[in-house]
Amino acid sequence: MSTATGANGAEPVVDYAEVIRTYDPVMGLEVHVELNTATKMFCGCATGFGAEPNTQVCPVCLGLPGALPVVNAAAVDSAIRIGLALNCEIATWCRFARKNYFYPDMPKNFQTSQYDEPIAFEGYLDVELADGSTFRVDIERAHMEEDTGKSLHIGGATGRIHGADHSLVDYNRAGIPLVEIVTKPLVGAGDRAPEVAKAYVAALRDLLKALKVSDVRMEQGSLRCDANVSLRAKTEDPLTQNDVPLGTRTETKNVNSLRSVERAVRYEMTRHAAVLNSGASILQETRHWHEDTGVTTSGRVKSDADDYRYFPEPDLVPVAPTRERVEELRATMPEPPDERRRRLQNDWGYSDMEMRDVMNAGAVILIEESVAAGATPAGARKWWLGELARRASAEGRDLADFGVTPDDVAELDTMVVSGRLNDSMARQVLDAVLAGEGSPLAVADARGLMLVSDDGALSIAVDAVIAANPEVADKVRDGKLQAAGALIGQVMKEMKGQADAAKIRELILARLGSS
Ligand code: ADP
Ligand code: MG
Ligand code: ZN
Repeated sequence: MSTATGANGAEPVVDYAEVIRTYDPVMGLEVHVELNTATKMFCGCATGFGAEPNTQVCPVCLGLPGALPVVNAAAVDSAIRIGLALNCEIATWCRFARKNYFYPDMPKNFQTSQYDEPIAFEGYLDVELADGSTFRVDIERAHMEEDTGKSLHIGGATGRIHGADHSLVDYNRAGIPLVEIVTKPLVGAGDRAPEVAKAYVAALRDLLKALKVSDVRMEQGSLRCDANVSLRAKTEDPLTQNDVPLGTRTETKNVNSLRSVERAVRYEMTRHAAVLNSGASILQETRHWHEDTGVTTSGRVKSDADDYRYFPEPDLVPVAPTRERVEELRATMPEPPDERRRRLQNDWGYSDMEMRDVMNAGAVILIEESVAAGATPAGARKWWLGELARRASAEGRDLADFGVTPDDVAELDTMVVSGRLNDSMARQVLDAVLAGEGSPLAVADARGLMLVSDDGALSIAVDAVIAANPEVADKVRDGKLQAAGALIGQVMKEMKGQADAAKIRELILARLGSS
């Protein structure tokens, strides 16, 4: 048994391959999505992100005595559309419930949520994996609730409550509409469990974006994932695997990037295995994910539903969408994900392999928006996947949150296509954009980057290099075209890299009678 203590004195973990040999992982994913309605779930307060603290509040979302909530109809429509997109049944009648617990950032001391009567239930989402296979993620329910406020811990080194000397609370977020989408326990993913988790959240993000119900910005918290993981003993005969009862789960909270979802599930699997191998049992608790160290640490022991003393919300009328309304909303569904993928692949002229790479990189929407902003499909793929994906993964960031926008990529690609920049200049521009120097156009202008397209200047350099290298020139004249590379390199150097290599080659071959 290879049990190792992780970095920084973290808990012991087992090698991943060994986890898979001994155990069968089971996952449950809870995704909270903040809806982009103009107003909050139960009051008319604005929902814009980044306003001055406590400027978007009123007696209802502050939970002042006697204030009465009213359900936001647009939020209900969005919740139903999410349910429909996830192939769920839509409740004919459902209620809100009070989930009672104390948190300083929750002014009412209960969260208005839904409990045993969710608006949508029993659905699924088919998720494509890297090898082209499809994994069906069964959805248990999608329910409506409200967000909490935000605590800010001041005076500590880490921004966490530990070590802080005081805390501030901003209630602007309190009462923002949320939909929580909860999967059934997902079995059968085996060693691909972490990949399934990431692919599911990515597919869900794209679907919610296509529905236009949320900004789905993981780094801003408008899409948040909690990952439940458990292990059970692996049976020799896979057909009997589902007879084995589920193990105890842990719930890793607020994993705020796609990459972290994958890493957190994987880490918890290796940690659970070490606990189970030692003969101990897993404590049902929440865990905190640490992006920097790649480990989870113990949070709080998880309450059972009983502890929340759920009861139906007496201040709100039930929600009873008519079947006509549901059908009206069904008519507003965007095209299904697989149709959409086929259409985009066709429009963009990508091979199956290229399309899969784009999907695995989580770049479909980025490319779609880049193309809409004027990039060529080939260029958009080249910049997002070739250059930016590599750098984002080196920094442990998701492509979508990386600081380069689809508009930037379109601007860059346009400069390359129009012959203003060559690829190496374009990479230089990207570096500067990532360093915060401005848009690609602004960077290229500020640095005076412009391919020398002036044939006169290029011709002079070509003539000079040919004159200085008579032997190489003779080889090219004799038809040894590879020899031209050395001349092209020298001309490029003369031009300080700001020239089009194909153009130089053309000029050299024309001079030496080899074209
Ligand atoms: P909680 O209120 O504790 O967050 P939820 O029902 O909202 O409970 O979510 C629990 C999630 O964990 C669901 O996605 C569920 O499918 C999943 N789950 C339940 N039991 C297990 C288990 N033994 N192993 C892994 N996941 C589980
Ligand atoms: Mg939950
Ligand atoms: Zn309010």
